[in-house]
Amino acid sequence: MTHTVTDPQTETATRPWNAITHSCGAWWTGLGRAHCPACHRTFSTDGAANKHRTGKHGIDRHCADPTEVGLVPVQKPYGVLWQHPAPEDGRDTRRPA
Ligand SMILES: [Zn+2]
Ligand SMILES: [Zn+2]
Repeated sequence: MTHTVTDPQTETATRPWNAITHSCGAWWTGLGRAHCPACHRTFSTDGAANKHRTGKHGIDRHCADPTEVGLVPVQKPYGVLWQHPAPEDGRDTRRPA
């Protein structure tokens, strides 16, 4: 019993079984993540995603640069995840990266 089984599906070797994918090819892990269908950035929460959407619905709704609305990029195995620098409870305890 010393042999190892190699996964025959090597095309997505870095993608875990629980990855969530989007039609653009982006993927991420974690329930509650939000992926923007417009700019295809991935956010840690709906709240973070909402933050980068500015303008009025149906008029000039568009995506802002996440850094301009106070979000910070976190490097994940699947790419950049945008999140709040502080805990989601609203306290501003931003710390150096
Ligand atoms: Zn967007
Ligand atoms: Zn996408």
